[in-house]
Amino acid sequence: MIGDDLLTVGGKSFRRGERGVVELPVGRLVSHAELALRVNVIRGRKPGPSLFVTAGVHGDELNGVEIARRLVGQSFSGLKGDILIVPVVNVAAFLLRSRYLPDRRDLNRLFPGNADGSFGARVARTLMDEVVKKSTHGIDLHTAATGRINLPQTRMADRVDGSRAMAKAFGAPVMLKAGNREGSLRSACEKREMPYVLFEAGEALRIELPAVTFGLRGVMRVMRSLGMLRKKSKDREHPSAYCMSSSWLRASMGGLFRSFVPLGKAVEEGQVLGGIGDPFGSGETEVISDRRGIVIGRTGASLVDEGDALFHIAQSQVSPEKAEERILLSAEEVLPDLERPPYRDSHSDQ
Ligand SMILES: [Zn+2]
Repeated sequence: MIGDDLLTVGGKSFRRGERGVVELPVGRLVSHAELALRVNVIRGRKPGPSLFVTAGVHGDELNGVEIARRLVGQSFSGLKGDILIVPVVNVAAFLLRSRYLPDRRDLNRLFPGNADGSFGARVARTLMDEVVKKSTHGIDLHTAATGRINLPQTRMADRVDGSRAMAKAFGAPVMLKAGNREGSLRSACEKREMPYVLFEAGEALRIELPAVTFGLRGVMRVMRSLGMLRKKSKDREHPSAYCMSSSWLRASMGGLFRSFVPLGKAVEEGQVLGGIGDPFGSGETEVISDRRGIVIGRTGASLVDEGDALFHIAQSQVSPEKAEERILLSAEEVLPDLERPPYRDSHSDQ
């Protein structure tokens, strides 16, 4: 637990029970306008864990930004501990509606950053010093990269104690044990032995209600499992389909691509998953799965070159059919939320 009385972020101190916004300057843009990281600090009256929630590390990934925005609107009554929410980490890329920084670098390869480094390295350092180091747990919200679509899923390392428990509590349809990338926020947190979970859902440049609903519900569930919020009686254990590995099935031919299977579907070796048509003739090449598993992501492209990634297929701990059942069940669980008007609940606890 960080600090017994005062929590200081960017030189601004907060007492228990207080909330507010801190702007952390990270540098000036070409226009001379100063760019700042906005951190929403929400302190509970009682001590507890300190959770950071970040989104927009990739500037075109909007589902997380919407989840964080709705999170800021929650009342968090009875909160124990602190929440630090950064709805847009990579503001410079967000302004460009781009995954990358203006210098084409990926912010998620620049952690833990450097106060004397590139613009992105300074953003990374500021986030580490003022947000990550003041937290005991972290959740980072993402979508698939441009041109791809992800089934809502959490990714975590089994190595750090508490990460898997957080992913389990999050209750996304799929939990994927995933390798780490040097320079990512995740790797910086894992080096600090901080329990951390990454949520991936939907596609870039869109706000998709199912992805937002899964994400918002997941963050609140994690907070309840950490004892930051009171447990709800309807908070039953929600088994995600746990997957140990995954890989992409690639195009054996270029052309016009169509997918025949939805996300979350169990697939067999030898099953036809899509077709690639010859744009100048009637010829069609079948996309045949060379493995058993569940589809957790796919390309959103209709035009593909040979070698392009088409279907992201994961190997689940239970059978693919059982995993598909769990995924369908989790989709049904969010249906009542999906039927509600999107903003009605933005000021009440989930
Ligand atoms: Zn991302």
